[in-house]
Amino acid sequence: MSIKTPPKNGFEVSAPVVVVGAGAAGFCAALAVHEAGVEVVVLERDSIPRGSTALSAGLIPAAGTHFQATRGITDNPALFAADLKRKAHDRADPVVVDLAARQAGPTVEWLADRYGLPFSIVHDFDYPGHAARRMHGLPSRSGLELIDRLRQVADEHGIPLVVNAKVSALYVDAGRAVRGVEITRPDGTRDSLGCDALILACNGYGGAPDLVARHIPEMRHASYFGHPGNRGDAVLWGERLGAKLEHMSGYQGHGSVAHPHGILISWAVIMEGGFQVNKNGARFSDESLGYSEQAAVVLAQPDGIAFDIFDERIAAIARQFADFRQAEAAGAVIEAPTLGLLAARLNLPLPALTQCLAEIEEARRTGSLDRFGRRFAGATPLVPPFKAVKVTGALFHTQGGLLVDCAARVLDASKKPLPNIFAAGGAAAGVSGPCADGYLSGNGLLTATVLGRVAGQAAAASVLQKTPAGAR
Ligand SMILES: Cc1cc2nc3c(=O)[nH]c(=O)nc-3n(C[C@H](O)[C@H](O)[C@H](O)COP(=O)(O)OP(=O)(O)OC[C@H]3O[C@@H](n4cnc5c(N)ncnc54)[C@H](O)[C@@H]3O)c2cc1C
Repeated sequence: MSIKTPPKNGFEVSAPVVVVGAGAAGFCAALAVHEAGVEVVVLERDSIPRGSTALSAGLIPAAGTHFQATRGITDNPALFAADLKRKAHDRADPVVVDLAARQAGPTVEWLADRYGLPFSIVHDFDYPGHAARRMHGLPSRSGLELIDRLRQVADEHGIPLVVNAKVSALYVDAGRAVRGVEITRPDGTRDSLGCDALILACNGYGGAPDLVARHIPEMRHASYFGHPGNRGDAVLWGERLGAKLEHMSGYQGHGSVAHPHGILISWAVIMEGGFQVNKNGARFSDESLGYSEQAAVVLAQPDGIAFDIFDERIAAIARQFADFRQAEAAGAVIEAPTLGLLAARLNLPLPALTQCLAEIEEARRTGSLDRFGRRFAGATPLVPPFKAVKVTGALFHTQGGLLVDCAARVLDASKKPLPNIFAAGGAAAGVSGPCADGYLSGNGLLTATVLGRVAGQAAAASVLQKTPAGAR
């Protein structure tokens, strides 16, 4: 990922704003630029834009939306900001936290009301750490639907998307302004494209094993479950330009990926009263703290394996997720009419499993915390038929990245904005702080959509400011 000196004679072709990466962040940015009446081109390395966005459940947390109001859910941005700060142990950048909490509602409503994305609230279970039900998703509850709809909307608005266009270098002048980008095609041929402002929306470094080993050693042997094309280009360019990299050890893990199927099993199976045991049939943690930190906890169990144990009632809730339905079709979800048969099917010792259920029932009945500190008071007891999935922990995406300000401008070490570079989504430092346990559900798409839109608005404004009124 190199930095080059701009060609002396300029560029044959230019666009006022160039966006690198066609994930949720890139498309939100491009829509916002286009809305401002400024030309924008989106460059994507793959032949079909998918990114990590397509692999996600497509859920965006947002507070104070009309979707919540319709369901009678009381929530507001201050409550959301407090949840984000608490989960990140107050170590996330407060500027971006407040921006994200404030703008998430308007951003989801913008996508729904202006561009017709049919969001609805996940209203039937709680996500860990959220004081209100505020996850907004599309009907299939899948990120594939989100990215396909965003691409369709961008297409309908005539926003040029160039695929098979990996940005391989930035052309940067002596004042650290980006003047254009170099594009490498799959056959190795190269083009260049000039620009007045650049938006980096090419996610983080989960797909770069060397960067993961350097910044997140605890996950260096974990499977990476995100998009392999996210190879840390934004942070590598940023480093070369003196940008400030923040919270590079932060990441979203997940402690519930069906093994060996490699399918995400929604944390609903745990939050609704399910639990995890290891190969000895023993519980090992307070699972309700969050699925992100649970990745490393599960990987620390014998053979890096755990079993999610739940029941049919919970399975019915999880079935709203396309991933869960896929897991059932793939045979990853085991069912048994009794605990004994479940233990036999999973090859787990029945006495250990029986003891887990007895301890949970005791905690539920007495309202006391269990020995890991988890509260089961109010939970519905598990009843036959029982369900189970063999799972492992995985790295989903990195949360560290380029430090940005409230206009998504990339900042240098002295917190001064670089002249014309913006970052959004996984390219920017997120709102989770430096550790996996700082990740609050939805933090990924939160900064992809909010910072994407903000970056687009700010990049467009910066271009318009420099354009003489008569030339607009
Ligand atoms: C299994 C899974 C489940 C998840 N579930 C959720 C969830 O429910 N809610 C949530 O908030 N988050 C979730 N996340 C995280 C979320 O998917 C990401 O945080 C979010 O999609 C990031 O969006 P993005 O636009 O920054 O990146 P991406 O969607 O990854 O898009 C980046 C794009 O940039 C392209 N690119 C990279 N480098 C270049 C280059 N040099 N030139 C051109 N193009 C380039 C890539 O090909 C890619 O298309 C999940 C992640 C995973 C893996």
